[in-house]
Amino acid sequence: MSSELSTLAAAVLLALFAGAGSKGGGSSSSGDGAGGEEAAFAEARARMVETQIVARGVRDPRVLDAMRAVPRHRFVPEHLRDAAYDDSPLPIDFGQTISQPYIVAAMTEALRPAPGDVVLDVGTGSGYQAAVLARLVKRVISIEILAPLAERARATLAELGVDNVEVRVGDGWQGVPAGAPYAGILVAAAPDVVPPALLEQLAVGARLVIPVGDSYDQELRIVTRTARGYETETLFGVRFVPLVPGEDER
Ligand code: SAH
Repeated sequence: MSSELSTLAAAVLLALFAGAGSKGGGSSSSGDGAGGEEAAFAEARARMVETQIVARGVRDPRVLDAMRAVPRHRFVPEHLRDAAYDDSPLPIDFGQTISQPYIVAAMTEALRPAPGDVVLDVGTGSGYQAAVLARLVKRVISIEILAPLAERARATLAELGVDNVEVRVGDGWQGVPAGAPYAGILVAAAPDVVPPALLEQLAVGARLVIPVGDSYDQELRIVTRTARGYETETLFGVRFVPLVPGEDER
């Protein structure tokens, strides 16, 4: 029997266990007192890292640790918790999505986060990406255009005790000039061209990780600011929700 098959069988069992745990469990949100359920989620998370993220080539140990640590199930709608560690994006509210775990990990690794960094996260959504970054850098400024999503992300991050993320409501096309220059900028929604303000707000040596393209055909790019200008590298094809143009771009 191949090891993939036994891994798959274990994953199925784990999924069943996680499902049973959540239906029977009395505690829904805090996780305290629902140790079995949290343990099952932690196991699902460890498996997610091995089978979806390490298997596809993400190597940075700090990124892998962060992906093992952040409770993704707390960032998805309650009724989708049992799917939180699946190999796919999931809907949040207002037609938005939380990215597939592998994409979050690959983008985070591409940013090359360092412990002293202040980074900008554009498109807070659920706050999951910001929470992953928060474990890897000193401070995260995260900007979301939809106020109710920003509000909920703030609440989730506070419940989890994440205190180095500042969630702002506003238009990410403009970046957040107040905190610039950034040691890295990660964008989780796709513009059709790279917003000039984001290039301006990069420190020299810093990287902008951003999907660029139209609604169905985008590529993930890394733009590095050098002493002489900008260098662009293309990673692979992706599909993100569009970066909604702000007033100036319409
Ligand atoms: N990083 C998120 C997923 C983001 S989905 C997570 O981990 O859950 C993309 C988000 O970008 C959506 O919440 C959408 O509302 C937001 N968005 C779209 N256009 C934007 C803009 N111009 N400025 C800021 N946020 C924007």
